[in-house]
Amino acid sequence: MAAPDTYFCYACLRRHQTASVTGRGHRRFDIDADASTSAVQAHIREFDLQTKGVDAAFRILGFRGVEIHPPRFGRGWPPREEVERRYRKLVKRHHPDAGGDPEAFRRVQWAVEVLRRYRPPEEYRADRDPR
Ligand SMILES: [Zn+2]
Repeated sequence: MAAPDTYFCYACLRRHQTASVTGRGHRRFDIDADASTSAVQAHIREFDLQTKGVDAAFRILGFRGVEIHPPRFGRGWPPREEVERRYRKLVKRHHPDAGGDPEAFRRVQWAVEVLRRYRPPEEYRADRDPR
């Protein structure tokens, strides 16, 4: 298969022309390249990418205003159950078997994987925040 002309960038949450300057510079944020690796999220091991990835994942699942404080990405995370609830809702809506958009479907799956992986330890959860 030929290299695609465009790809979806999770840093910018939009598509880039692969051959453009931004497209070349952001190639490591390609959501499909990231999702297709068997070592999950291999491309977002770098700290800066983790922050962008977590932020993008929240926006893909429709969460707004979550403050990400590296390195634990702590405070203000929605409860785990809420993340999973939104995931199930969106994945049903975008499922290709039900006529959904395969790209949107992959994006939602990518997002939930990122949030499962980088979720802070329980003591950082918003609902246990002592403030
Ligand atoms: Zn980009």
